[in-house]
Amino acid sequence: MPLSRPFVLAFLAARVIARALIDTLSPPACAACDAPVRRDRVFCPTCAATVLRTSNTPGEPLAFAAFGGAVAAALKRFKYGERPDLGRPLGHLLRGLLREEAPAVDLVIPVPLHPRRLAERGYNQAALLAHAAAGELGVPLAARALVRLRNTPQQATLGRAERLANVARAFVVRSPRAVRGRRILLVDDVATTGSTLEACRDALVEAGAREVITSCLARAGEPPADRAT
Ligand SMILES: [Zn+2]
Repeated sequence: MPLSRPFVLAFLAARVIARALIDTLSPPACAACDAPVRRDRVFCPTCAATVLRTSNTPGEPLAFAAFGGAVAAALKRFKYGERPDLGRPLGHLLRGLLREEAPAVDLVIPVPLHPRRLAERGYNQAALLAHAAAGELGVPLAARALVRLRNTPQQATLGRAERLANVARAFVVRSPRAVRGRRILLVDDVATTGSTLEACRDALVEAGAREVITSCLARAGEPPADRAT
């Protein structure tokens, strides 16, 4: 049944009022420094100038930007500053990347946190980003398909070889049937050596995934001194 014109007008008016209310209660702010921004912007102009987009090459995780500047500041707040609300603007950046790269996948899976760390933080930042990715690609999200078995030491305190050993065999697939034959986009917030994404990919491939494309919001060249995976 077609909607009547008064109903549509009333709906549009209610939406405008709701938006204005949301903006008053929680005005759009820069994800890195909280300066006021337009609703469609993630960063203020000063912070936006520090964002270094990456060129994505085959074999490397798809990444929106290099780890640094406003992206690093926003990710630090997102992860360690009890700011799950930043999943929305940062997810917006990941959506933009996926619109450009258009990976052919049929399922999105986040890198999981160990249950103990999830309980401490209250949310899995990678899962919030993966939710945005699944929405952009129009495919299901399997947020609990992978499980982290070991509460591995903070990656930032380790060297490269130790990082690889630290995460090897740390992940298992909870339900192999859910991933068998699927083309999967794996999502993390930051990739440093890529060892965490690799360990997750190995677990998914072992469980029968057809293809696993890895992605992250930011890719770091060297382990940042004050960050952890
Ligand atoms: Zn800013």
